Amino acid sequence: MNTLYELQAPTEWATSPGLWSSSSLDEVQGCPRRWQLLRSRWGAHPRFPVRPRPAAIEGQIIHDALDRLARACGQRGNPPFGSAEFKAAAAEAEFFEGFITAITEWQEKMAEHPRPGPAFQLRTSPQELTNRAVRLFREQYQPGTGAGRLHAQPVTLEEGDLSARLRVCGGLTELRLQHPDLPFMGVIDRVQWTDDGVEVVDFKSGRPSERHREQLLRYAVLWWRAAGERPARITAQYLDGRATWALSEDEVFATERVLGESITTLAEQLIERPGPARPGAGCVWCPVRARCEAGWGVAEEVARSEERGDAELIVVSRPGPHGFLTYAKTGDEVAVVYEAALGALVPTVDVGAVLRVIDGVRKGHGRELEIKAWTEVFVARQGGRTAAAR
Ligand code: SF4
Repeated sequence: MNTLYELQAPTEWATSPGLWSSSSLDEVQGCPRRWQLLRSRWGAHPRFPVRPRPAAIEGQIIHDALDRLARACGQRGNPPFGSAEFKAAAAEAEFFEGFITAITEWQEKMAEHPRPGPAFQLRTSPQELTNRAVRLFREQYQPGTGAGRLHAQPVTLEEGDLSARLRVCGGLTELRLQHPDLPFMGVIDRVQWTDDGVEVVDFKSGRPSERHREQLLRYAVLWWRAAGERPARITAQYLDGRATWALSEDEVFATERVLGESITTLAEQLIERPGPARPGAGCVWCPVRARCEAGWGVAEEVARSEERGDAELIVVSRPGPHGFLTYAKTGDEVAVVYEAALGALVPTVDVGAVLRVIDGVRKGHGRELEIKAWTEVFVARQGGRTAAAR
């Protein structure tokens, strides 16, 4: 059976989501093929096993912790540091203990990755990650800029009567809503009653972005259809302030129309195998770029200009214990070299095979490419057959 690095295409293609979320819409819109290849089965792997990048994982752990804390603080109106409310928010967000849990989970995932050669490890301690997250949080957090504390009251109204519940409580949190006609759902951080009408709020860490507004517009549609009343405004609540947009009826109608059209179009695109590619800046670090003919060239070109070691190579001599000879696309001869212990990273290939190397190290002005412990080597063509998705 072929290994992950020899498989040319998924063994079972992913199908369109039965129920879309705002993030799945954004991901598929970004590149349908990437979404599809990442979620397809590859031999024994139910999804494409993305190679863990320790620096990216550490960034993700910090980002997730900040997001949880931003949400918990936001629900309390961004209380002052050290206050009882702030401590309650940190406890609810599992801010401090979350670093140990996340690192343990990632170490297990990295150990399971099917790549041959030495296993990856996160080297940064939970304490160090916590310190970085606290520093970032302190830089951004402005106490008192939140939407205010909700004092929820016991409600005895029917579960489904959202509008009445909102009036009784003043606000509802963590609302999971589904559109009655479209396959679209979302979990809204908070909906509250204001003097102007209903406000839909989402809590965010990080910087304002148009994507946040898009997501809130879609959530406004969900509330409108679930509760029967149009929100008057949408708000992205950040650690240091808020961005608010008034909503017109036309805008809510237009958002719903675009939502329906987008879901139909994207679902149709995901029926294609492979789905349409959107080559661009996202290809450079795309985890499935070695399996995408359309994006590989873009990624390789950028890597070459930055002297990074993504390279497509034609094998000239069979791999030996320390290396082998190849030609690059440019026609230049490139010697692939490695320590004997890393030979397992090179698949068994014959002369004429085409390899796609990710994260090797270029040396000697590109005449040499060194395979390191973190390098991956994909077979792109074996025995004269073209492999990757066109
Ligand atoms: S390499 Fe680029 S075009 Fe190909 S799947 Fe990835 S993001 Fe899409």
